[in-house]
Amino acid sequence: METHSQILDRLRSAFRSGITVPEAFRQAQLKQLMSLMTENEDQILDAMKKDLAKPKFESVIAEVDMVINELHFTIANLNSWMQPEYVSKNLATKLDDCFVRREPLGVVLIIGPWNYPLQLLLSPLIAAIGAGNCAILKPSEVSAATDALVAELIPKYMSQDCYAVVRGAAEETKALLKNRFDHIFYTGSQAVARHILHAAADHLTPVTLELGGKCPCLIYGKVNITYAARRLAWSKFFNTGQSCVAPDFLVCSKATRDALLPALRQTLEDFYSKEPESSADLPRIVSPRHWTRLMELLKRSKGKVVMGGESNEENKYIAPTVLVDVAEDDALMEEEIFGPFLPILTAETLEEAIALINRQEKPLALYVFSEESSVVNTVLEKSSSGGFCSNDGIIHMALPTLPFGGVGASGFGSYHGRWGFETLSHQRAVMLRGWTLERLNGLRYPPLHRGQAELAALDHLCQTQLLTHVM
Ligand code: NAD
Repeated sequence: METHSQILDRLRSAFRSGITVPEAFRQAQLKQLMSLMTENEDQILDAMKKDLAKPKFESVIAEVDMVINELHFTIANLNSWMQPEYVSKNLATKLDDCFVRREPLGVVLIIGPWNYPLQLLLSPLIAAIGAGNCAILKPSEVSAATDALVAELIPKYMSQDCYAVVRGAAEETKALLKNRFDHIFYTGSQAVARHILHAAADHLTPVTLELGGKCPCLIYGKVNITYAARRLAWSKFFNTGQSCVAPDFLVCSKATRDALLPALRQTLEDFYSKEPESSADLPRIVSPRHWTRLMELLKRSKGKVVMGGESNEENKYIAPTVLVDVAEDDALMEEEIFGPFLPILTAETLEEAIALINRQEKPLALYVFSEESSVVNTVLEKSSSGGFCSNDGIIHMALPTLPFGGVGASGFGSYHGRWGFETLSHQRAVMLRGWTLERLNGLRYPPLHRGQAELAALDHLCQTQLLTHVM
């Protein structure tokens, strides 16, 4: 079996040969990835079923279609993204060609999580291919069926000189990270992100961190409670709450909470029936370890369970669960829940609610439900988050023209569409000068001893015309 450094040598020498640079190569590889997706859809859906008991529709929209749409968008726009971007010039550079050239970085390491095991591995790969890089994929070992499928399919469809899959858990990943990469694109938890940053520091490798956190949802002002309950429940319990952009907790007034609870109860019954354990539309918790973590979190919470709370260790089931009377220092508020618990906190005014969310780390997404645009705009202006969506959840990340990424503790760097292409490209500043205007250059050559008046005139010229006035 090839060692990590042998794999890297193979990819690096392919990169150095320049094979990944022409657009035709990138387009061909993107089309190969499209074939991988379309020719193996059934196998992909089977793997998702094995890993998380995902219903087919969830896998189709959140995994297969997300990747295919990203491919279509990149294939259609790559040519324009690759064009040099000419910039405005000042008088001193008027006769030069000045532009930004997007260049590939080299070999990119993409480390994926288990919750959307295909989308979160292949979307960064699309950005890497589009930007002309080679890439190593490290799928999550926790989603074992998808991990095995990716390792089988990537070498079948993609250039083996340029793309490879390395499998393994924490120890293998740590060993892999001892090697030098040109960029590390990591999606996962904040805890592991610290190890990634330490490893990257040894080689001064640039990093993109796509992390999680506690995404708040606020409901204030006039609101259609039935619609709010359905949209909130869908985005919270999609993939059984195992989404980095799932609303983590809800903040609203006591009156809104009391109006919302019956609507939420009805919604959960409509979505998953009176016996959610037998519903085919509710994925399972990914592993016994994650199930135990969640159940311990629930046990430690001082909140009152008003819906759900049932669980079954044997099939890793946890019911969609809603809790009220949850304090800011409750166990459920200590860490990202990443499961089907919705704690409801109350704050009587919008200002108090905003203060509450601003006491937390900056989240990956922030949601506000209100029919009043003043409420939506106030939250938008007075908070910070990776992404923001009003009157719905999760859905903003499906639009490839918006950047997807965190801020502060929820990560840095972004991708999707052009944003991923930019993240995995170097923006090289290019100035192509000719041989004219040598008399003008004479102004900067020694000897530099000049009289006060001449200096003042030169200074004035530089400030008013030569170096400013970009046009
Ligand atoms: P994780 O951090 O445990 O694992 C992610 C990857 O890191 C896996 O491939 C794993 O093998 C590897 N890994 C684990 N321990 C490691 C170590 N010590 N050194 C090096 N690599 C190691 O994350 P997870 O449990 O798979 O995913 C859940 C987390 O990911 C949540 O916090 C969630 O919010 C976040 N997430 C973020 C996004 C996003 O786009 N921002 C998307 C999905 C998930």
